[in-house]
Amino acid sequence: MAKIFCVANQKGGVGKTTTTVNLAAGLAKVGQRVLMVDLDPQGNATMGSGIDKRQLEMSIYDVLLESASVAEARVTSPKLVAADCSYDILGASRELAGAEVELVGLERREKRLKMALEQATNDYDFILIDCPPSLSMLTLNGLCSAHGVIVPMQCEYFALEGLTDLVNTIKQVHANLNKDLAIIGLLRVMFDPRITLQQQVSEQLSQHFGDKVFNTVIPRNVRLAEAPSYGLPGVVFDPSSRGAQAFISFAEEMVERIKKL
Ligand code: ADP
Ligand code: MG
Repeated sequence: MAKIFCVANQKGGVGKTTTTVNLAAGLAKVGQRVLMVDLDPQGNATMGSGIDKRQLEMSIYDVLLESASVAEARVTSPKLVAADCSYDILGASRELAGAEVELVGLERREKRLKMALEQATNDYDFILIDCPPSLSMLTLNGLCSAHGVIVPMQCEYFALEGLTDLVNTIKQVHANLNKDLAIIGLLRVMFDPRITLQQQVSEQLSQHFGDKVFNTVIPRNVRLAEAPSYGLPGVVFDPSSRGAQAFISFAEEMVERIKKL
């Protein structure tokens, strides 16, 4: 049975997609079977895994509307297979933006993804879901499917303020829709130790949230930002870079964490 995690934060540009694809690649590298689900109509996680979203025959859209199963819609990236770092991908294309409206009138609309993933759970150790930057019906589908939420955050002054809405949403989903759901951890990303404020916020996070803060810290590293334009996760694009090394450590930390869940 796979452990299922959402990577969520309603802010845009905080590192959700970078975290999802690099954690997927890192887990694959340490021998885990991984499915990555792209729930963002922008399709950045799809493109960043080497899949052209404009050429997808079937996508997460078809899965949500029950016109395809996970087994029918998942794809692999030849580049990742060649690098021996492959994970399965349920890709997203533009039409996913319309799913929001199309789901409204349907029954069990917030549980579509959960039901679809149940068919595939024995094929994987980890299923990672890249959420869009909103608390929408798509994100709700992600939260209803998951055992836990990974929250990437930058150590900035307003970082904690943005957390309140997400924490409240997670509490509501936990109370009403998915008793399994918990925040697994806060992941400090794009960290620059030379900036005193970032160090201070990082320490405050640890004091306030204790072991809900992952030990691994992801540094700001330009190789991670360059990798998507090559259709590769940073972990594959430049395995020796500091960013890639950090994501491998994070993958190892996740493998340890799930033993305690
Ligand atoms: P989100 O999915 O939350 O919108 P992204 O993962 O797309 O955020 O990241 C936003 C931008 O920041 C992207 O251009 C990405 O390449 C860059 N980025 C993310 N993490 C890092 C990092 N650790 N170091 C440098 N750049 C990063
Ligand atoms: Mg994104």
